[in-house]
Amino acid sequence: MTTLNLTKTEQPSTPWQTLLWREWRNAEDKGYAGHIFNLLASEPIGSQNRFIIAALGAIFGAMVGILLDALLFSATSILVWPGLVAGGGGVYILNRHLSMRRWLAMLTPNNLFSNTKWPFKVVIVLSLLPLAFLLPSVWARGLFLGLTSGLLLGLTLGLLSWPFLGILSLFFFQGQMLETADLFLGGAAVGVGLGLGALIGARPKHQQIYSFRQVCFWWLPPPLLAEVDAALQQAIETKTAHSKLWLPVLPRLKVENLPSRTPQATVKQLNALNWVTRLIARRTLLHLSSEAFTLLLKEAQDASSPLQQTAIALLHSIERETQSWSRPICMRCLLRCRDFQIPLSLEENIIYQGCRDCRQSQDIANGELVAILDIDDRAKIKFKENKEQIEVNWLQQRTLFDFDRVEIIKANDEDVERFAVQVGNDTDTFRRSRHDHLPCKISPECNLSPNTLRILDRTFGSVEHYQE
Ligand SMILES: [Zn+2]
Repeated sequence: MTTLNLTKTEQPSTPWQTLLWREWRNAEDKGYAGHIFNLLASEPIGSQNRFIIAALGAIFGAMVGILLDALLFSATSILVWPGLVAGGGGVYILNRHLSMRRWLAMLTPNNLFSNTKWPFKVVIVLSLLPLAFLLPSVWARGLFLGLTSGLLLGLTLGLLSWPFLGILSLFFFQGQMLETADLFLGGAAVGVGLGLGALIGARPKHQQIYSFRQVCFWWLPPPLLAEVDAALQQAIETKTAHSKLWLPVLPRLKVENLPSRTPQATVKQLNALNWVTRLIARRTLLHLSSEAFTLLLKEAQDASSPLQQTAIALLHSIERETQSWSRPICMRCLLRCRDFQIPLSLEENIIYQGCRDCRQSQDIANGELVAILDIDDRAKIKFKENKEQIEVNWLQQRTLFDFDRVEIIKANDEDVERFAVQVGNDTDTFRRSRHDHLPCKISPECNLSPNTLRILDRTFGSVEHYQE
């Protein structure tokens, strides 16, 4: 987005895995998302997911305990607690090395029946029902139906279909035997079937998992560009097997290495066959920022365009990136930025920060803008080491800009008075309201006449001499 300063955007405290999951979750480009996924797929599921799995195992274990109690001991509660402990512990131990790829594959629907049409699936399910009625008791029927329906749910829809579990257990065990214990039995039967089905049916291909990313990770917001780059760097340092693929790509994403193409030529490359070309095209358009708006809006508003979703995602990215700036300055005009609204649709506006005059959002720096008066310094614009302070030598610039404070290092009375008169006669309404609050510091070596000091006093908020 900018060639100058993006220090506010990096959050080293967030693990790279989290940042890349956020990037994957929000990536519109399937090819790019696939390569991000490969960096993450073998990562362990993490303590939070392990706890969820263990809790589910404990619930199912307790349900099986109740079921066995009913079958073996006529509904006394001997096996509930052992079932709970065995279920939770067993599932935890079995899945302690579970990878994210396998876990997501179990959660999400899979293509076990993808070659067959929906009516065929319905026939499979319905054909199991008469079998149940061959069984002698309501108990056996309920168990059979619970297990088979759970199995089918697990095979086709994955573990995320668990809300059906409760409904099915209610359905199969209602009627003559509707008691709390029966509901537990129904739940156990459907749950065991569901778990088995998900385990057998899991297809850990990215294609499968990617289409359900918004269900699995609905809460994850997209990260900022600088965060993605830092996370990718960390990822390939850890996952050296992937460095061959990513090492040549990362330098090409740096702003200074992006190709200098027109927005028109770049938009065309969003459709390229190579995922790196598409990625670089997206980065270039994000860097062009407001200069690519007209083209991106055209694509975003055209329902027949194959680039519609990509263009909408890019416009949202520009909004997010520019809104993350803390104190942006337009480096073309040396003016502050403000919010601009661009209508994306009747209901939605894109709000981006751009120069309050030229509206661009490409050459931006973030920080404090200081007006310097230094006769010895020939530099017009200088960045301080921390990059959060930009100094502009008015003696070189000679025009006004949106400075936040003034430092007179070495200047004669005539120059300082000329500067003060220019400020006093400023017609810019944004700046006029600020001038008499701004601090002005004068170096001790700079001997200004009492008259000049009086003029400075009248012009600025506070005037003081400072020690180096
Ligand atoms: Zn500007």
